[in-house]
Amino acid sequence: MKIYADNAATTKMSRTAIDAMIPYMESVYGNPSSLYEIGQDAREALEDARRRTAALIGSSDPSTIIFTSGGSEADNQALLSGAELGRLKGKMHIISTKFEHHAVLHSLKRLEKAGFEVTLLDVHEDGLIRPSELEAAIRPDTCLVSVMYANNEIGTIQPIREIGKICRDKGVIFHTDAVQAVGHIPVDVEKDNIDMLSASAHKFHGPKGTGFLYARKGVRLTSLIEGGAQERMKRAGTENVPGIMSMTAALEESCSRMSEDSKTLTALRDRLIEGLSRIPHSVLNGDPVKRLPGNVNFCFEGIEGESLLLLLDDKGISASSGSACTSGSLDPSHVLLAIGRIHDVAHGSLRLSLSEDATPEEVEYIIQAVSEVVAYLRGFSPVWRDLTSGKKEFIL
Ligand SMILES: *Cc1c(COP(=O)(O)O)cnc(C)c1O
Repeated sequence: MKIYADNAATTKMSRTAIDAMIPYMESVYGNPSSLYEIGQDAREALEDARRRTAALIGSSDPSTIIFTSGGSEADNQALLSGAELGRLKGKMHIISTKFEHHAVLHSLKRLEKAGFEVTLLDVHEDGLIRPSELEAAIRPDTCLVSVMYANNEIGTIQPIREIGKICRDKGVIFHTDAVQAVGHIPVDVEKDNIDMLSASAHKFHGPKGTGFLYARKGVRLTSLIEGGAQERMKRAGTENVPGIMSMTAALEESCSRMSEDSKTLTALRDRLIEGLSRIPHSVLNGDPVKRLPGNVNFCFEGIEGESLLLLLDDKGISASSGSACTSGSLDPSHVLLAIGRIHDVAHGSLRLSLSEDATPEEVEYIIQAVSEVVAYLRGFSPVWRDLTSGKKEFIL
């Protein structure tokens, strides 16, 4: 059996998304900035996509959408813009959280070097921040708050509406990295009190290299790329029309199927959690309920996540571990450390992110495979031997 269970990393493009792309490569290939017909046809399509995209996240104003190369670019632009607006008013303090995506955390590092002060809120063991702690952290010189909608590793969904309300009341700009949320759970920029939001097509069955940034009217964006006058001079470069059309179709499809999909997916997720919880000395990371419909994340004591992944790959399962060993470092995931997992435990992590096409048979296969592989690896793990012989104490 071949099972792709790494949909938080990227998703397979849907047929709808692929089909939506083709006309803009084969026939309507004009440059949207050109004045002749084929260019203007592309322009019309682009503006139609902007209107539809805005509507899908609850904005009635198409000019609030800037198309980008993806989630990372949108995050970078949002943070830089919020910071620049702050600098103009002499407000140089930014609040975010310890478990943001690196697109946010590394942008914050850069802003710190440029003279901003950054407060990173603690994430509690349930994978959630506390709005009261955010409220207490806001100062007169706070210009920007950035809190992710749903976490990409442990899938926890933050109380965004409440967070947005606090920021709105205090007059602080609120950005949310909603890359894992858009297309998966209901997102409404108006109701959620969001000023800026980042999204990425390849996380909801659209193409890679395409995304968007929402910025409420009145939130002035700083451009990252200088050049032509595209995207209201906020993002130069000829627009990726095929990608944008495809993303819009993918988002429409995901949103129209959302309530049905999330019901079946949540049931599969909960069965997977139940099955994996039977493995001794294991723990589910993140709140069991306030989490994305397809996200399951566990730590198993006494094993290495990397070995687990390799053996699961042999069994046909594509999954992910929290640790960043692929990037050449052996540091455990900053997300798992942020929720209080100690190094040893955080190393034995496994993220399974299911797609809407997942089946009950696949879930049973995964439970069986993970249980076998964990037991096998513990069989020759020195750490496990120390734990079972009482030399070391179990944490989980
Ligand atoms: C994937 C992801 C990103 C980056 O998006 P890209 O389109 O790959 O640049 C940012 N934030 C979160 C939460 C993500 O999951």
